[in-house]
Amino acid sequence: MCSDRPRRAVVKTQAVDWDEKWDDFVAEETADKGDGKMDCAAILYYAKDVTNLSRGYKQIFGETGSGHAEMNALDEFIRTICDSDSSTLAAYCTAGALYIECTAKPCCCRCSAILGALNFKPSSTDTKKTKAPMGSTQWGGLGPTARGVVAGYLNTTTEDIGTTLAAWKR
Ligand SMILES: [Zn+2]
Repeated sequence: MCSDRPRRAVVKTQAVDWDEKWDDFVAEETADKGDGKMDCAAILYYAKDVTNLSRGYKQIFGETGSGHAEMNALDEFIRTICDSDSSTLAAYCTAGALYIECTAKPCCCRCSAILGALNFKPSSTDTKKTKAPMGSTQWGGLGPTARGVVAGYLNTTTEDIGTTLAAWKR
């Protein structure tokens, strides 16, 4: 007998295609891996008003130390500006309201994949990307809170943002 109970919507996570996300980050590709020992700084720009991009941008500075500079800035952006909320992050991503500046070194393959997944654009042609994983600093990626927020936005698991991506190569 047929049941007339409404079917519950099944929210199924889906693994992210990191190759595709790397491609989505539109920075120019370079084979230059930069100086492995040099510390790197990154600046994340986000719109002051996500519903009106003409109002200008604010900055968050990221540093290497606990991970790559881009991810350091992104982690702070997600926790403070997005208040660790996936739908707030989604608003910035879909509005194209996010830029990254990382000119001392190219963005490594894993940072580039995350940046592409979140619809980041390079702030200028001086920010480039590479297929190299940049081994001198272990790619720690995002902290657990930010990882969960990104996983929520991309409808995937935190493992996909963490261990899967940390082992992925372009
Ligand atoms: Zn990186």
